[in-house]
Amino acid sequence: MARYTGPKCRKCRRFGAPLCGTAKCAVIRRPNPPGPRSLRRRKISDRGQQLIEKQKVRYAYGLMEKQFRHYYEVAVRRPGVTGDLLMRALEERLDNVVYRLGFSATRAQARQLVSHGLVAVNGKKLDVPSARVRVGSTVALTERGARSEYAKILKLEIDARDVPGWLEIDRSALVGRMVAQPGPGDYDSIFNPNAIVEYYSR
Ligand code: ZN
Repeated sequence: MARYTGPKCRKCRRFGAPLCGTAKCAVIRRPNPPGPRSLRRRKISDRGQQLIEKQKVRYAYGLMEKQFRHYYEVAVRRPGVTGDLLMRALEERLDNVVYRLGFSATRAQARQLVSHGLVAVNGKKLDVPSARVRVGSTVALTERGARSEYAKILKLEIDARDVPGWLEIDRSALVGRMVAQPGPGDYDSIFNPNAIVEYYSR
């Protein structure tokens, strides 16, 4: 199955959560699920709820099922809380770090910036959205990215945005740095990673 690229807020409204990552998510204006009213009020089984929790996170980070499941399978083999390890691996993705630094309005836009070669890690272009960013690494725009129209607008707009504690940013230079690994409190509270672990582990 391909990555979902349709109107983002249809998924947000289906799941009743702002998965698109923008401040202007339609869930805030139209909290009802899309589609015919008759389909809206179903009783949902535990299994169904686990599936929903898995899909919410998968859509929010813009991953295909196979990729997403791979993150689970790596997490479950490591010592520690599987759900937290899964979320940490998602947060450490380069496209997510670009989004968290405020270099893009959404993760989808961050993925584009990366795959179009506008993002550099430790001073070198890195155009792989799934690349893992490590503690101590810098994330910035490439020379080409820094010269782009996009960078000019970004410099004006980035000041209003907050950056989580595991990242630091020099907004005038548009250079970010990962100063710690993202922890269990650093993913969005709309997510329930334990339900995802239950979904995959049965
Ligand atoms: Zn939305």
